[in-house]
Amino acid sequence: MQKKTWASIVTLFAVVAGIGAGALQSKPSDAKSNAEVSPVKARGGRGVYYPNTEDLGPNEMRIISCGTGMPNQRPSQAATCFLVELGNGDKFIFDIGTGAADNIAALLIPADYLNKVFISHLHADHFGDFDALYVGGLINGRTVPLRVWGPTGDKPERGTKYAIEHLKKALTWDVTTRAGRLPASGQELEINEFDYRGENQIVYQENGVTIRSWPAIHIIDGPVSYSLEWNGLKFVFGGDTYPNTWFVKYAQNADVAIHECFIALPDLVERMNFPVARALNVGTQIHTPPPGFGKVMSLVKPRMAIAYHFFNDFDTSPKILEGIKQTYKGPLSLADDMMVWNVTKENITVRDVIFDEDVWSPPLLRKVAVDRSIMITESPWLKEHALDMGDTIQSIYDRANKLYGTNEKPDIE
Ligand SMILES: [Zn+2]
Ligand SMILES: [Zn+2]
Repeated sequence: MQKKTWASIVTLFAVVAGIGAGALQSKPSDAKSNAEVSPVKARGGRGVYYPNTEDLGPNEMRIISCGTGMPNQRPSQAATCFLVELGNGDKFIFDIGTGAADNIAALLIPADYLNKVFISHLHADHFGDFDALYVGGLINGRTVPLRVWGPTGDKPERGTKYAIEHLKKALTWDVTTRAGRLPASGQELEINEFDYRGENQIVYQENGVTIRSWPAIHIIDGPVSYSLEWNGLKFVFGGDTYPNTWFVKYAQNADVAIHECFIALPDLVERMNFPVARALNVGTQIHTPPPGFGKVMSLVKPRMAIAYHFFNDFDTSPKILEGIKQTYKGPLSLADDMMVWNVTKENITVRDVIFDEDVWSPPLLRKVAVDRSIMITESPWLKEHALDMGDTIQSIYDRANKLYGTNEKPDIE
């Protein structure tokens, strides 16, 4: 009797699920064995990464793609951004392209840990969300300066220092309104500009982590590529670059090497509406075409090659793969947003990140005193036009004071 009931349930499920139910009904013994493993037993082997659910091993590196797309906006792929987390607790952001801050937020990392950004070059698709990280991080509780590294330009006004200082100037109103309300230390920017011409030069060395830069070839002088070395592991991030001898030389022995791989020519012409001449120029000389990416990786031979900087769809990625396979047969990931690579000396695993879109800010790490004396408030003229909300506001205060055991008073007169 019980068996029959269960079979009915299975049948009902099968019908709802659109599965032909006949085969399921004819095997009641199968239904019994299914009942023993389902639905209360977890089967393990999830094969995906849920943020904030896994410890990082002391010798492990975790890389998450927070932006892999193009300068053109699309909800499924932000512009360039890779987060590197190390087993010693350090975290580094390589490029912070437009839209990437949303993906970083989904990883539920307290803002104080997201304070080191390395910019490859100053195209907006590589640093367009710097303002979102700067202001959003402050609001999310950052109490330490946001530190940024990036190259000089061929002229001072095309360098990282100029870009970030002027970005902060553009945010004068925003910065002013938050001063005295949020920690001043979280509003500070530390800008570290280095010579773009340095060849494998050390631009960062702290806590056992060494980051080096070398020139990239991308439109004009200024762009760079980076390597990060820690605990015998080497991560390389090319930024935007035409295949070049520096990359081949200084990316040697990389465990993970990320290099741009631009969208295939037919898609540039037919879907992105580039005139053929411009598609050829941009797709093969300003950027790296798929066979060019393959050639570079054949010379570098990383344990894992990661291609990014293309719209990764079911009908674009086969063309990318076909181009790469002409010149490279080694380990390869075609990057999409929110993939994760766990890297140890023994293994490199690749998974998708499954995240909550309705994410809330992670908990504050520290409370820092705020200097309210520097706060600027509204003019008396503006305040005169405020509706009298005294009773309404007071009742909210009363409820909150009762709930939290506080004794706060509104500023209203
Ligand atoms: Zn670029
Ligand atoms: Zn780019």
